[in-house]
Amino acid sequence: MSKVIELKHPLVRHHMAALRNQTTPPNMFRDQVRRLSLLLAYEATARLPLQPVTIDTPLATAECMELSCRIGLVPILRAGLGMSGAIHDMIPQAEVWHLGFYRDEATHQPVEYYQKFSNSPPELALIVDPMLATGGSACEGINMVKKWGVKHISLLCIIAAPEGIETVSTAHPDVDIFTCAVDDHLNKNAYIVPGLGDAGDRIFNTM
Ligand code: URA
Repeated sequence: MSKVIELKHPLVRHHMAALRNQTTPPNMFRDQVRRLSLLLAYEATARLPLQPVTIDTPLATAECMELSCRIGLVPILRAGLGMSGAIHDMIPQAEVWHLGFYRDEATHQPVEYYQKFSNSPPELALIVDPMLATGGSACEGINMVKKWGVKHISLLCIIAAPEGIETVSTAHPDVDIFTCAVDDHLNKNAYIVPGLGDAGDRIFNTM
């Protein structure tokens, strides 16, 4: 089974309140997504490999450490874009590879519309999508990233439904799931309850 890491940090819980609030306007909603994405990334990158590097400071040399692996950020379009910018600011050398799915409103199944990968996969991929609902697009995204050749994959989502966690961890037990909250259930339209509504619409002000 996947490890599910639900962040319990007080800052996470605090920022989730404004994120969920239906009166939070899009500009503040985007700020909350960025803040929570940074906290998720902090946790999800806690075991990244390092290599020693000697640096000249203005006073002396210092033995320091730097990241030693290629990291790919894989936002699932379009809501994942709300998360990837903040994480990219913190890991500026990360590569950003986009995956596009839209949800067929009748079947709730993901339909791929965009993929662009190089022929040289990074060692680690952080797939980012704010809402893990049915798990359909997350599973498809993970399949594609695995086929690309990435060996270590984590999924970062701000809210996860139990149904999505079950789907992803059954299909991909090697992929850890980092989330700010595990919510109660999906409704009949596959929206997460209590959730926050449509994350893409709230980020891009397309309600
Ligand atoms: N996608 C969203 O944006 N919200 C949900 O509740 C489920 C999927």
